[in-house]
Amino acid sequence: MPESIAPNSLLARLDTQPRVRDFLARAVKSGRASHAYLFLGSPGSGKLDAAWALAQALLCSNASAPGTVLAHVGAASARIDAAPVPAAHTAVSPASSAPVASPDASHNWKNFEKSQSFSSCATNSSTPGRPAAAVNPGACAACDDCRRVARRTHPDVHYLAPESATGYLIAQTRDLLEDVALSPIRARGKVYIIDRAEQLRANTANALLKTLEEPPANVTFILLGTSTDVMLPTIVSRCQCVPFRPLSLEESTVAVEHATGQPAARCRMAVAVAGSPARAVEFLKSADRVAARRAMVRAVDALAHADEADILASAKDLMGAIHAPLAEVKSTQQAILEQNQDYLSRGALKQLEDRNKRELNARERSGIMEALASVRSLLRDVLMMVEGAQGSPVNDDVSDVVERIAACATTAGVMRALDAVAQAEARVARNITPQLAIEVMLFDIRKALKCP
Ligand SMILES: [Zn+2]
Repeated sequence: MPESIAPNSLLARLDTQPRVRDFLARAVKSGRASHAYLFLGSPGSGKLDAAWALAQALLCSNASAPGTVLAHVGAASARIDAAPVPAAHTAVSPASSAPVASPDASHNWKNFEKSQSFSSCATNSSTPGRPAAAVNPGACAACDDCRRVARRTHPDVHYLAPESATGYLIAQTRDLLEDVALSPIRARGKVYIIDRAEQLRANTANALLKTLEEPPANVTFILLGTSTDVMLPTIVSRCQCVPFRPLSLEESTVAVEHATGQPAARCRMAVAVAGSPARAVEFLKSADRVAARRAMVRAVDALAHADEADILASAKDLMGAIHAPLAEVKSTQQAILEQNQDYLSRGALKQLEDRNKRELNARERSGIMEALASVRSLLRDVLMMVEGAQGSPVNDDVSDVVERIAACATTAGVMRALDAVAQAEARVARNITPQLAIEVMLFDIRKALKCP
């Protein structure tokens, strides 16, 4: 790891994606980070973690103030400006013939590697790019801004996810554009993380395009997506693409072990439930989230002897367990609102309140997805046991439950139960009441796993 990365920073934790980590660190350090990134990779490859890490590095208040070291980087930046821009980052106006980044991962890597030879991010050829304002050593991990970003409570880092089953709402984009125009609340810049950017549909994306091309100074967009072939080319062409390599469960487990010092079996379970190494680290830190997973496992375990009333009661209890971690989020939001009450306009306060509401919804949804992921992971272990497959189970701590369920389940039954989980995920994504989705899933799993 380069010495310039502070050991406790979020960037330092990206050790499963060293190329991405070093690339972003260099971009930030040179003061020439792009104004719009597109992080591309499969789920669990750490894109969201990298987005928060970049946000921390950009907003750290211990970085040199803009303008203080201009003379230092002036000559270097002139050289970079004169260098040819690699094809992957060019592209630009819709009419341009420049190729957009290819969906093919190897092609992405090739272009990405090419960009590694630059000492900073290449700039978009239609816009002059950011002036090299300062040498920014990256996140110190100790200042107030760094700590707030690490806790994901920084008011100048905005996380967006689609709020409807069909993707981003027009209202979301409108709010975003209004917010972009406002000054940062406490940091020297603002960062917008746009998750599942492939769900930016043409009607919502068009409004975004101009801002994406020329955002106000000190605003950075980080879009996350799985592949460019499902994204609007006009969006792709305005961003610098950063490909993430897919991670195996083993690699992710090692990363979590490294970060937490907890036993491998527990780390493996956390990765399976939470989805990515950094989320797994957060998961293991939250007693409430760990308890919600236990409650879910217990509920599935109890299905063999459950009647209708038991299942309904169990779904209700599960919702309570899933909601428990939200209390802390709510109190943090309230504290931020109170801190900012005196110097924010009424409009800005209203926006902050709306954003808080959306964040709570998103956290609720991810809590539910996490609970469903724990069932999926449990059932996969059951399937492995039923099939007599080799390999280490994920839910070592509840191997008694896995054995009990596997004792009378059939392969077809477990497959149907896994199907029920997938349907529940689809229902939650379509905004069906989560409790109802969980009830239906539990009924379906009971039917699928019923002992003959
Ligand atoms: Zn800092």
